[in-house]
Amino acid sequence: MADDGAQTAKNVAARVWDWTGYRFIYKKKERSRSSEGTLTYTFFCAQNEKEVTKEKLHPDPRERRARIKMDRFPCNGYLRITVVEGEVTLGIRLTHHRAHCQYVDISIDDETKKLIDAMKDSPASAIWDRIMREYPSTEITRKQVYAH
Ligand SMILES: [Zn+2]
Repeated sequence: MADDGAQTAKNVAARVWDWTGYRFIYKKKERSRSSEGTLTYTFFCAQNEKEVTKEKLHPDPRERRARIKMDRFPCNGYLRITVVEGEVTLGIRLTHHRAHCQYVDISIDDETKKLIDAMKDSPASAIWDRIMREYPSTEITRKQVYAH
């Protein structure tokens, strides 16, 4: 069975990004031990230094250079989305202890540019959906894709 809860949680995280300007990256899924059918999806702020510094350096130095561009903060930014199987409501808990500059635009990489050009007759939202699907960890933003 497809993990609908995960998709729902990711959609919510995308909306939170729109609303707050902070991007949240998917981290893990946990099943409640005390409450059957309850799943919690945890995301962290893309600029949360506690999480981001755990990332291994990319082996390719060019990639590595491309990735070092975003300021990190001790913001303790987490988004937890609780889904109960079979229910339509979900719980959202957002912690963000410190305001910081919002997730900034970085330049669009060539691979993404090619994809956008190939889909230039499609609506921008369809292009964005495809980018999110094929490059879930991309650091470019929806606004950039629309502008491009
Ligand atoms: Zn943050």
